[in-house]
Amino acid sequence: MTMVTTEMLQPLPAIDGERLWQTLMELATIGGTSKGGCNRQALTDLDRQGRELLTRWCEAEGLTVRFDAIGNIFARRPGRNPNADPIVIGSHIDTQPTGGKYDGCFGVLAALEVIRTLNAHGIETERPIELVSWTNEEGCRFAPCMMGSGVFAGQLTLEDALARTDADGVTAGEALAAIGYVGDDASRPARFAGYLEAHIEQGPILEDTGDTIGVVTGALGLKWFDVTVTGMAAHSGSTPMHLRRDALLGAIRVVEAVERIALAHQPDGRGTVGAFQVSPDSRNVIPGQVTLSVDFRHSDGEVLAAMMSEFRSTLDTIADEAGLEIAVTPTADYPPQHFHPACIAAVRRGAEAGGYAHRDIVSGAGHDAVFVSDVAPTAMIFIPCEKGISHNEAEYASPEDVAAGANVLLHATLELAGRAVEGV
Ligand SMILES: [Zn+2]
Repeated sequence: MTMVTTEMLQPLPAIDGERLWQTLMELATIGGTSKGGCNRQALTDLDRQGRELLTRWCEAEGLTVRFDAIGNIFARRPGRNPNADPIVIGSHIDTQPTGGKYDGCFGVLAALEVIRTLNAHGIETERPIELVSWTNEEGCRFAPCMMGSGVFAGQLTLEDALARTDADGVTAGEALAAIGYVGDDASRPARFAGYLEAHIEQGPILEDTGDTIGVVTGALGLKWFDVTVTGMAAHSGSTPMHLRRDALLGAIRVVEAVERIALAHQPDGRGTVGAFQVSPDSRNVIPGQVTLSVDFRHSDGEVLAAMMSEFRSTLDTIADEAGLEIAVTPTADYPPQHFHPACIAAVRRGAEAGGYAHRDIVSGAGHDAVFVSDVAPTAMIFIPCEKGISHNEAEYASPEDVAAGANVLLHATLELAGRAVEGV
């Protein structure tokens, strides 16, 4: 897949950090919030405005813009070999209702900046380069998240995706038609030679270690469950302590077990109880039932399975000791994702070429790249975001880190797309 020539070893032009920053800030005005964030949810009229601005920028660079049946936007820069599969670079431009300016948009506009830089320097590549902006990564108006890349990668069908409804009963298909982005799957590349996605880390690791670039080697697998702990609701005054079956006391032991199991599998283990409902939730009634959510993650599928069996045996112990019934219902299960060695290496070399402090990192969050990785060689580039804050109007990445991430994307894209000798 990789076409490295001697030219690859020569210094590369740098991207224009100021131009990239101005472009990011301009896109953020569409749906911009008073607290400095962005509310540009998928398939809304603001999404349409964002798509149209992106399209104008792409067409100004001579790219051919198309969209597929779920509205994913592709913008093609030809290569010297028109029959070669493209290197695809991008992310998403939809946001959470109280989202920031960088989540997703950084990756799409870094891809645009790579193309602007290649055009400005007259650099040709062997392979075509396609910018992509995936539909509905955030999944806040229409579930599930990563909808556009999920349809592309076969995680869900087009029919299923288009039938999903928002809170008002509008289907994704109706919303897509209303903004004028129902396209044709024949117009998108059938295969990707490689996919690179630059993204803010959305976590605190790079800031903590002082690294500028995260070379993303894969994504944590996850297992989600609903756990129902059932005891016996009873009067808090007339029921002696030794005759109680208190579901809340059992549920608290479950919460502690989730943390203990995650801590036993560091550094990649994660365990979270994020939702918790007590029934009947009354001051003078012993809780009869508690439902709670469990989210376990790890980079290694075998370790994740071991965490789960440890969890199940702990639940049995808790149930026996406290006279409770504990039921477990799985709600989601994604294996760990391992990105492609050649793409990871290209990102690492890009970080080295730029002289950026970097470290390998595993993504704890879902991204379009995680789905695309099922069907194409893939890697990601992370840059730090302040305090790890994301999905929040306060989300911030510095202009220096934004420029660094785009330079790494430029270098890795050129390595994978093959810089043509005559174009240098
Ligand atoms: Zn994102």
